[in-house]
Amino acid sequence: MTANEIRDSFKKFFESKQHAIVPSAPMVIKDDPTLMFTNAGMNQWKDIILGTRDPEPRRRADTQKCLRVSGKHNDLEEVGHDTYHHTMFEMLGNWSFGDYFKEGAIDMAWEYLVDVLKLNPEDLYVTVFEGSPEENIPRDDEAAKYWAKHVPEDHIINGNKHDNFWEMGDTGPCGPCSEIHVDSRTPEQRKASGKSGRDLVNQDDPQVIEIWNLVFMQFNRKADGSLEKLSMNVIDTGMGFERLVRMLQGKHSNYDTDVFQPIIKAEQQLTDLKYVTFEEEQEAPISKQQDDINVAMRVCADHLRAVSFSIADGQLPSNAKAGYVIRRILRRAVRYAYTFLGQKEAFLYKLVPTLVYEMGDAFPELKAQQQLISKVMKEEEDAFLRTLDKGISLLDKAMELLKAEGKSELDGVQAFRLFDTYGFPLDLTELICRENGFTVNEEQFNVEMQKQKERARNAAAVENSDWVELAAGEQQFVGYDYTEYECHILRYRKVTQKKNEFYELVLDYTPFYGEMGGQVGDCGVICNETETIDIIDSKRENNQTVHIVKQLPKDSMAQFMACVDTDKRYASAANHTATHLLDYALKQVLGDHVEQKGSFVSPDTLRFDFSHFEKVSDEQIREVERMVNDMIRQDIHIDEHRDVPFDEAKKLGAIALFGEKYGDKVRVVRFGPSCEFCGGIHASSTGRIGFFKILSESSVAAGIRRIEAKTGKECEELLYQTEDMLKAVKAFFNNAKDLQGVIKKYIDEHDAMKKEIEGFQAQAVERAAKQLVEKAREVNGVKVVSAVLPMNPAAAKDLAFKIRAAVEGSLLCVLGTHADSKPQLSIMMSDDMVSDHGLNAGQLVREAAKLIQGGGGGQPHFAQAGGKNVDGLSAAVDKVMELANL
Ligand code: ATP
Ligand code: MG
Repeated sequence: MTANEIRDSFKKFFESKQHAIVPSAPMVIKDDPTLMFTNAGMNQWKDIILGTRDPEPRRRADTQKCLRVSGKHNDLEEVGHDTYHHTMFEMLGNWSFGDYFKEGAIDMAWEYLVDVLKLNPEDLYVTVFEGSPEENIPRDDEAAKYWAKHVPEDHIINGNKHDNFWEMGDTGPCGPCSEIHVDSRTPEQRKASGKSGRDLVNQDDPQVIEIWNLVFMQFNRKADGSLEKLSMNVIDTGMGFERLVRMLQGKHSNYDTDVFQPIIKAEQQLTDLKYVTFEEEQEAPISKQQDDINVAMRVCADHLRAVSFSIADGQLPSNAKAGYVIRRILRRAVRYAYTFLGQKEAFLYKLVPTLVYEMGDAFPELKAQQQLISKVMKEEEDAFLRTLDKGISLLDKAMELLKAEGKSELDGVQAFRLFDTYGFPLDLTELICRENGFTVNEEQFNVEMQKQKERARNAAAVENSDWVELAAGEQQFVGYDYTEYECHILRYRKVTQKKNEFYELVLDYTPFYGEMGGQVGDCGVICNETETIDIIDSKRENNQTVHIVKQLPKDSMAQFMACVDTDKRYASAANHTATHLLDYALKQVLGDHVEQKGSFVSPDTLRFDFSHFEKVSDEQIREVERMVNDMIRQDIHIDEHRDVPFDEAKKLGAIALFGEKYGDKVRVVRFGPSCEFCGGIHASSTGRIGFFKILSESSVAAGIRRIEAKTGKECEELLYQTEDMLKAVKAFFNNAKDLQGVIKKYIDEHDAMKKEIEGFQAQAVERAAKQLVEKAREVNGVKVVSAVLPMNPAAAKDLAFKIRAAVEGSLLCVLGTHADSKPQLSIMMSDDMVSDHGLNAGQLVREAAKLIQGGGGGQPHFAQAGGKNVDGLSAAVDKVMELANL
């Protein structure tokens, strides 16, 4: 079976078991402060598991794009060195939310692997949780009992808390799990090791690996660490797709399957190097150099996928947060290609067409955004290769210094600086040092690294206490229709971040919009007759608005009125609607390739990022503005559809964003021809926007442009500012009618006068030169010119050169000039004064300039110094003469 067929068979199997087949959520998570990337299939069901979203349909299955490069799951350093961990991989999963539990999950997994896919049951081992006496949790005998229906006792292995007890986080749903492991060793390997598959489970043997994990969520962990029963049992399973494909295709490395081989073939062609497969390696062991090549090819093939999928999901490489993680992955690949595959120029982007050809059908987002992916990747590669070059030359200098000092070890602080500012990982620094006969102090490096990690940890630490439940129930969001609503507090908790304390409230009914989809959260108050509490911000968490307050009300059980600050709300709503109109107009003016790549909407401004490959011209900007303002004047009413099934919304012609997570039911917002999937708050009609003006258009990354704009009242203020400025400028010119003409005339006059003055100055210099040369004294055969006179520095230099040109034979010329009460000393002499008399203008000027409180220097025959003390000027001239000692 091909990889694509295997993916389909999984979906078909679970469909036949009454599971709804759902799409993968985006790999990049946009609105969850606790998680940057999807790292497991269950992430997108967090709300259901926590009980804040409707669990129907209760059986679901999918393949989920996952990325494990940060936080709890970080496999980055393994990737490429082993053959079964990836940064980005697909996780096949099936879920039951309060439907079947352990028995159903175990039976279905077994049926799929053994009856459908025909894996050999003798190669399969399963684990069950051994129990934890200190937490009072018994062994998972229940799971063991159901497994015993399918496998002999000696294929069931007890596992510890680390491997067999799953937790969502420090708090929240958790429970025991059962892993399925496959012994895929060759007969020779089995013979040679003498160990049974059972002995090798969870022992990091690359041929006895976990492929599927069945999690049985049945507890909820509270902040004090104690466990309580979960109100709804949940089955959450995850199977590594690439590992499954490898087992079914009889390979011993994920990279030897048709998931990776096409990419690796392309790498071989581009680099003229060979990749040695597992089978080939069995026949003849490979050299260290070939092993490095193998690792590098795996790294590049893997990272190509991770970076491409992230870009397609809207996460571009950048210098912060999720973008920085992606940048680091890309740089790791560039580094391996640079060091081991001899690629000194951008290389990864050349593999994009192969990836898109192979995976574009299953993941259409790749196909649709191929051009953007290639462009962004190439630009990132180019930029990092330049940094690498810079780092290498820095390292060269450091090594030169070491050699001069007779040392052989680079200190760890320097190695860390290379890592931190130039993205130079320790192994690369070590490699280059080793090639030049130096070592690196690794211990020091690690100390620096540790320090940085601590700094980061302290900055990010957030402490949440348990929710205090005041009433049961879930929140109703009423903000699309109301800005004020009666409410009670359902629950609250204390949050501590960087020593600041605040509280989060969940209300039963709320008109407050929690920050999401680029639109800032509402602020306002909750109040009743006795008190008023400010809501300083609203965030969205697990499908609910969480209200941020500095203090709790005295009576938290009381009824309140929740009131949104409507000035701000209406202003941000208008800006949000304006982004929709802008999106529409950009597509009209620039073309259909325009894709939204991010937006920010607040009461005072709006920002819109989109894919487009060149600068938007001034004329195009005007055209977009005119189109948007025209739609504003048409005062188009909002046409809003809530709870529309996803497919129906598509039929309505609504635009969905790549990388956005949509539920089964969506909201569609239409303003005339603009129709988008959107959960945000909008103006009731476009007229409310008032006016729209683009302030700037710029580039944020390769292929991504950014427009910043303002609307309504903000535009009004902008207009006033411009008007005031214009009035002030007009006043300078006596309120001339033809302002442009008058200013142009002034500029022309100014230019003409400047030229004239320069002419006078040149004449003055000419005259002064002539007079000074005539007055020159002669001392021991040397013509001496010295004078103190008013003149600007540039003219003084000119004068000195003119004098030199006019004097034949030996010359010493010392000029003290001043302009705007600033003194300047210039010394000019003929070349023989330097060669035969051993004088040096630079030295003389430095010494004499002390008398004008200044400094300077220059060449041996000409030097200048500026200073602060005009009164010392003639003494300084005398000093030069004295020092010259003719
Ligand atoms: P391992 O111990 O091999 O790292 P895990 O315990 O981290 O696996 P889970 O978190 O249970 O794995 O994930 C479920 C399944 O996803 C695993 O059984 C495995 O098949 C697959 N998987 C996990 N991590 C990776 C990875 N980095 N690359 C590819 N597949 C993975
Ligand atoms: Mg793992």
